[in-house]
Amino acid sequence: MTATGPIATAREEGRVVLTELESKELLKGAGIPVVESRLAQSRGEAVALAKSLGFPVVLKVVSPDILHKSDIGGVKVGLRTERQVGVAYDAIMAAVAASNPEARLHGVNVQAMAPPGLEVIMGMTTDSQLGPVLMFGLGGVMVEVLKDVAFRIVPLTRRDAHQMVQEIKGYPMLQGFRGQEKVDISKLEEALLNLSAFVEQHAEVKELDLNPILAYKDSIVAVDARIILADA
Ligand code: ADP
Ligand code: MG
Repeated sequence: MTATGPIATAREEGRVVLTELESKELLKGAGIPVVESRLAQSRGEAVALAKSLGFPVVLKVVSPDILHKSDIGGVKVGLRTERQVGVAYDAIMAAVAASNPEARLHGVNVQAMAPPGLEVIMGMTTDSQLGPVLMFGLGGVMVEVLKDVAFRIVPLTRRDAHQMVQEIKGYPMLQGFRGQEKVDISKLEEALLNLSAFVEQHAEVKELDLNPILAYKDSIVAVDARIILADA
């Protein structure tokens, strides 16, 4: 494990992978609501940041070499005390040492724990013919197994954003289904339009992944984010 600067990035095959913290900073500037997230570079700093953010918090490994953080034990949610934060910090360090000892480690991301909501995802990929294409879907099984997603070419019109949300098969879930609360669809549409504008303004952004975004009755918030840039 080597410590690198907070803005160090991974360069491979002409791609630069931004960490979750770096990605959220950019997305926040683009008008996408993101959960408040801070970098801790020691156990003590993680505990101090958790106290200043307010419990419960989530701890996550920050490494440009670890893309699927929970797969290696790099995500600890629902931490309610200083002691739990310290234990989680040690557990993440041990998990990285065991699974990925060569990974460049920036530290640990301490973030507010978002309340339970409906998980949705938004993404962008660059098609060789069409250029940037935005994707929207429901999170978890709906996207991984059922591939229930909608696509539109950037730039999106307001109508595109509206239709994307409506055309997924899981749309009834957004409208409140079997006791599940109805979510704020206009906030989802606004986020899609903001993402479209962000991608249009930044040709260097090649891929983008907000997985998941939690949607509520009157707000949404992205809890995980990844941006991949072309290495100029
Ligand atoms: P991964 O790199 O494995 O995709 P995530 O950051 O998406 O890691 O975290 C894994 C899961 O933990 C998420 O899908 C979400 O359910 C939950 N989670 C992550 N961050 C938060 C948070 N700040 N608040 C609430 N739940 C979270
Ligand atoms: Mg994720």
